[in-house]
Amino acid sequence: MNIVIFGPPGAGKGTQADYLVNEFNLFKVSTGDLLRDETELKSDLGKKIKIIIDKGHLVSDDIINNLIKKVISNNLYSNKLIFDGYPRNLNQTKNLDSLLNHYDQKISSVLSLNVDYEVVLKRILGRQICSKCGLIFNDFFNPSTRENHKCEIKFLKKRSDDNEIIIKKRFETYTKETQPILDYYKSQNLLKNIDGMKKIDEINKEIRQIIHSLNAWL
Ligand code: AMP
Repeated sequence: MNIVIFGPPGAGKGTQADYLVNEFNLFKVSTGDLLRDETELKSDLGKKIKIIIDKGHLVSDDIINNLIKKVISNNLYSNKLIFDGYPRNLNQTKNLDSLLNHYDQKISSVLSLNVDYEVVLKRILGRQICSKCGLIFNDFFNPSTRENHKCEIKFLKKRSDDNEIIIKKRFETYTKETQPILDYYKSQNLLKNIDGMKKIDEINKEIRQIIHSLNAWL
């Protein structure tokens, strides 16, 4: 089972994907995380990537498709992937199809989390990510506590592109470049629209139901 999860920045893709990883024994592939890992290395490539990310633009398809190929070609992850933040445009969508085809895999379902800009803004401005364990929290909606998070507070970090100007740009990029892909997946009967403005656990429940219903016929 391979799942693709869509939604504008701040829709909760990463949070929901993390739940699914635990519940269904999947591996999350977040191109945003892979790119941020590269920027942390402060390599020449990493520096170029950071400039693009901090403008809210998309990184070039060649870079992204190479990263994705490494993941899809790895037997360990075969048919166990949840794609978070990929594909982001039509070219990447075609590339994903052809790679999955080549490695004898397919997409089982495409989930689209729909969220308004105002909600996105609040969510992203409150977002904190643990640089040690990778869990995502939110100052307003889902703060880190002793119960839900074992690492020390000092590991909680904000992303450099989580500011109001860049959020607006990222939202526009999503609407212009990524949203059109949804029609493609709709035409393949793979698309499930989900109200991403509900509470995290309600969304998770809905997604779990969708995935259980997939398991019934997979
Ligand atoms: P994300 O963590 O998914 O919000 O991604 C953060 C940033 O990384 C995006 O705003 C883009 O600049 C870049 N990025 C992530 N995934 C992709 C992708 N599939 N294609 C191009 N750029 C991407």
